[in-house]
Amino acid sequence: MADFDYDLFVIGGGSGGVRAARIAAQYGARVAIAEEYRYGGTCVIRGCVPKKLLVYAGRFAHEFDEAASFGWTLGERRFDWNRLIANKDSEIDRLEGVYRANLAKAGVEVFDTRAVLDDRHTVRLVSEDRTVRAETILVATGGAPNLDPALPGGEHVITSNEAFHLNELPKRVIVAGGGYVAAEFACIFNHLGADTTLIYRGPQILRGFDGDLRAAVSEGMARQGVKFVLANVFTKIEKTQDGLRGTVTDGRVLEADQIMFAIGRSPNTADMGLEGAGVRTDKSGAIVVDEYSQSSVPNIFAVGDVTNRVNLTPVAIREGHAFADTVFGGQPVKADHENIATAVFTTPEVGTVGLTEHEARERFPMLDIYKTSFRAMKSTLSKSENRVMMKVIVDADTDRVVGVHIAGEGAGEMIQCLGIAVKMGVTKADFDRTVAVHPTAAEELVTMRTPTERIYRDAAE
Ligand code: NDP
Repeated sequence: MADFDYDLFVIGGGSGGVRAARIAAQYGARVAIAEEYRYGGTCVIRGCVPKKLLVYAGRFAHEFDEAASFGWTLGERRFDWNRLIANKDSEIDRLEGVYRANLAKAGVEVFDTRAVLDDRHTVRLVSEDRTVRAETILVATGGAPNLDPALPGGEHVITSNEAFHLNELPKRVIVAGGGYVAAEFACIFNHLGADTTLIYRGPQILRGFDGDLRAAVSEGMARQGVKFVLANVFTKIEKTQDGLRGTVTDGRVLEADQIMFAIGRSPNTADMGLEGAGVRTDKSGAIVVDEYSQSSVPNIFAVGDVTNRVNLTPVAIREGHAFADTVFGGQPVKADHENIATAVFTTPEVGTVGLTEHEARERFPMLDIYKTSFRAMKSTLSKSENRVMMKVIVDADTDRVVGVHIAGEGAGEMIQCLGIAVKMGVTKADFDRTVAVHPTAAEELVTMRTPTERIYRDAAE
C-alpha cells in the first residue's frame, strides 16, 4: 500500500471518470484524476449539453411561426449566431467549474495534463514530465469523431467538435452520416436558417432504431426543410472560391459553405501505453472489459465510450459508479445495460426504450403492436403539419410491454418516465388501468385499446 501514491488514478475527466473518482474518494480512497482538455468531457464540453442548447435555439423558429395563430404579433426576427455561441460558452465554463469544484469537495487531486501508462501501476503525467503510482487505474478517456482518411479533400470537413465554435452560421451546410449526431445537427442547422442537406450511405437514417420511428423522423425532418441525399457518400471534396464542392457516389455535385462529418466515433486509446501494460483492446480500439468494467489487467478498469459498450453519458456515469462501489465500496455492482431509455434531439424528437419491432419479432412468437400518429393539440390552431408518432410493442404471451417508441414534441421527457415502467416489467394491462392526463399528447400512450397489428408467428415455423 505504502508503495503507491494513490489508491485510484483516473485518466479522463468526463462523465464516467469524474463520477468514479468522486464516489471512490467518498469511500475513503486516495484518488487523483487527470484530464488533457477540459473537465466535463465530451458531454459537457462538446456534446450533449452544448448540443441541447443549440437545439433549444433552433426550435424557437417554429415557436415564432406558431405564435401568430395564438394571437401574437412578433417584431422583427433576427438570429445572432455569435451571441448564442458566447452564451453557450459561458454556460459550459460554469459547468466545468462545477465539475472541478465537486472533485475538490470530494478530496480528489486534480491534474490538467495528458496521462499515459508506463506500466500497469505507473501513470506518466505528460505535461509535468513525472510519474505517479496507483494501486488501481481507471481509464475513462471517451471517444473522438471519425473522419474518412481515404477521402480526397477530407481535410476540408469539420466534425461536431468544430461545429460548436464556427465563426458564423453557414448559409449552406451538408452533414454526412445517419446516426444521432448527424440527424441532430442537420435539424439544428436547418432550424437556425441554413440550407441543410444530410447525406447518408443507407436508405434511411437512424439505423438500429424502430422502423416506424425512423420513418416518422425522416418525414418530419424533410417536411421542415432538410434535404436528404440517400444511398450515397462523398467521393471527393474540393475547395472553391465561395465554399466547398462535394462529389457523391452517383456523380451529383453538392455545394456548401461547411461540410460536417458525423460518421461515428472511436475510442481514445491510441498512444496511451495500454499495449505495453498488457491491456487488451478490440479491433475498434476499445478496451475489452468484463461486466465489472475490469480489463485484461486486473488492477486496470475502464468505463464509458472508451469501452464502446453503450455510448451514452448516463451509461458511463452508471459504469463509473458501479466500478467505485465494486472496488472501493465493498459491494460488487454490475452496470446494467438492459432497457436503457434514450432520446435523439432531432425535431421531431425521439424517445425510445426497449426492443424495436424488428428485434421483438425475432425474440417473441406473438406480438401486439399499438401504433398511432396524430397532430398534437398545439399544432391545431397553427395548422402545422408536425405530427406525433407513438408505438407500444407488447409480448402477447405475457402482456409485457417490451418496447415503446415516440417521435414528437416532448418524447425525451416522456421516455424517461416510461423507462421506469418498462424497467419494472410493466404490462399492457397496467397501461390500460392508468388514467389519462388530459389534455396531453402522452395520454395517447394509455388510451390505445386495440392493436393496430397482431403478429402471431405460426408455431410450426
Ligand atoms: P453513430 O454510430 O450513431 O452513427 C454513425 C453514422 O455514420 C451511421 O449512420 C453510419 O452508417 C455512418 N457511417 C459510418 N461510417 C461511415 C463512412 N465511412 N462513410 C459514411 N457514413 C458512415 O455515430 P454518431 O457519430 O452519430 O454518434 C456517436 C455516438 O454518440 C452514438 O453512438 C451515440 O451513442 C452517442 N450520441 C448520443 C446522443 C444522444 O443520446 N442524444 C447524441 C449524440 C451522440 P450506418 O448506419 O450505415 O452504419
